[in-house]
Amino acid sequence: MIELDGSQGEGGGQILRTALALSLVTGKPFRMDNIRAKRPKPGLMRQHLACVNAAVAVGGGVEHTSAVNAAGQAVQIGETTLLFTPGEVRAGDYEFAVGSAGSCMLVLQTALWPLLQAKVASTLVLSGGTHNPMAPSCSFLTALAPYFAGNGEALFDIELRRHGFYPAGGGEVRVHLHPPAQGFAAIHLMKRGALIEAYAECLHAGLPRGVAERELDVLRKGLGWQEDCLRDRGLRNNEGPGNALLAVLRYENITEVFAAYGEKNVSAEQVARRVLQEVKDYQAHQAPVGPHLADQLMIPMALAGLQGKMGRYWATELTEHTCTNARTIEAFLPVKFSLEPLEGGTVISLQA
Ligand code: ATP
Repeated sequence: MIELDGSQGEGGGQILRTALALSLVTGKPFRMDNIRAKRPKPGLMRQHLACVNAAVAVGGGVEHTSAVNAAGQAVQIGETTLLFTPGEVRAGDYEFAVGSAGSCMLVLQTALWPLLQAKVASTLVLSGGTHNPMAPSCSFLTALAPYFAGNGEALFDIELRRHGFYPAGGGEVRVHLHPPAQGFAAIHLMKRGALIEAYAECLHAGLPRGVAERELDVLRKGLGWQEDCLRDRGLRNNEGPGNALLAVLRYENITEVFAAYGEKNVSAEQVARRVLQEVKDYQAHQAPVGPHLADQLMIPMALAGLQGKMGRYWATELTEHTCTNARTIEAFLPVKFSLEPLEGGTVISLQA
């Protein structure tokens, strides 16, 4: 049994999701203590429990996959220890509900890699939050899907049926997973190439008039973007209340998506300035891979590496998420990551 300490490095939910995914991929059981020890409310929250339940379902259900606490009982919200013994992965049509506004895209992060190793396609219907802080948004994963496949055939496509924002949730996506017939491709991302398109999109539902205009205006002024680069996307009132401000930069070899979310007691201008800063930081760099994509590309890179397809990519910064994910992946797979500094960023590759 692989022993993992959930308090190491980033000490958040990503260690759990990577462990669940790779346990299913490899068939290796694990025990994790101190789950999310570095978060204000440690232990499994509703969205993490949804990830555990999704992993159990994908592994053939409770008859084949077990997820219990130290006393051998089914895990519950607040649990800080998990013993997970995976069954064989079963492709199929699944529905997973987070049951709150927690991000359902994080459930996708858990189920995606095991199901992509199956021989046949699967479909996931996921409900919860689609645009959440501290998680990849549906917009991010939709735009960035090609890069997980080494820019080859898409491994998944996402149909957004209804947006879900904190605190109401209620979002829904349908995800089609296409296991690659030839296995995972090597990921090579060392150059952005020329800028093709840059735009900002303000998603908003059930908010006072003027919020979108104010947010988009901060990006217009701060980035010098023309009016035709600003998209005001009012959603159905019943998808709200909620607000996501996105900035999309599309280059020849990479698209990056930056986001910030409306919150109570935070002005529209403050929300927009967060996105503005992220875009400026990215523009000030040459590396193609932004800080969030950097940690998310590591699993497909490692799985491709196991088939002898060695890639490498250059990220604008080395985050704690990236360092922690390297250690978690190395606990399951016979790979070793190399994290080499390059011009203020980091080149991520696998050691031969
Ligand atoms: P917690 O740590 O509270 O358990 P969590 O379950 O969201 O929260 P983290 O360990 O913080 O777990 O992992 C968050 C994941 O979401 C990481 O993979 C990170 O790259 C990704 N992420 C965070 N913010 C963004 C963003 N703005 N765009 C894309 N991805 C993001």
